[in-house]
Amino acid sequence: MRKKIVAGNWKMNKSYNDGLVLCYDILDKVAEPKATVVFCTPFIHLYAVNEVLKNREGFFLGAQNCHQEDKGAYTGETSIEMLQSVGVDYVILGHSERREYFGESDALLAQKTNKVLSNGLTPIFCCGESLDIRDAGSHVAHVNAQIEAGLFHLGAEEMEKVVIAYEPIWAIGTGRTASPAQAQEMHAAIRSLIAGKYGADLANSISILYGGSVNAANAKELFSQPDVDGGLVGGASLKADEFATIINSF
Ligand code: PEP
Repeated sequence: MRKKIVAGNWKMNKSYNDGLVLCYDILDKVAEPKATVVFCTPFIHLYAVNEVLKNREGFFLGAQNCHQEDKGAYTGETSIEMLQSVGVDYVILGHSERREYFGESDALLAQKTNKVLSNGLTPIFCCGESLDIRDAGSHVAHVNAQIEAGLFHLGAEEMEKVVIAYEPIWAIGTGRTASPAQAQEMHAAIRSLIAGKYGADLANSISILYGGSVNAANAKELFSQPDVDGGLVGGASLKADEFATIINSF
């Protein structure tokens, strides 16, 4: 059975203290999560948030990026070993903001995916199309190409550990959500692409999250689609009430 997951992507938000307050507020509101919950905090919060989460069942720590090399002269970067040493379980890779603002290519993301998996952590591999691509009707082909380039070098035993997040760029931070039918169409297409290469059993075991303006009002309907296994949530993960409602939407 594939996992239901709600991951909050704090992006570059919250001071150290405000981040801890948010974390405690969410935990107060969610006694026993019905899904795996991941807090993808900025690097500076990781250690402290881990201290808070580590005795709470169902809550995990995520990073928003990592470097593809083990160590060395990479000023400003963070290695997988460093992330592991503060309790990180999940790493977001290939978020559209990293692809667009930091020039992360498919080839680089393939390297980062290898690094995360070979250290026993779980990548949350993001994919998604721009509005132009959707309007041109080539969204499925575009997303398929991102997945093939970033993930299809993996063997089955690695691929089955990957979490995929479909995030249409036109829906991220815009308040414009993909309709449940649009999300389901793409998630089913992703699953069928994976089934074509790795077989139906593996495809059915992979969690595919939807991201793009998920909020307390739309989460239930999105998460009830047969191929939507949860969400990667940006803005709404910064509000304790809203994020708690999203977590409780299964
Ligand atoms: C995201 O950052 O991955 C995201 C989906 O943001 P938002 O929920 O704000 O659209």
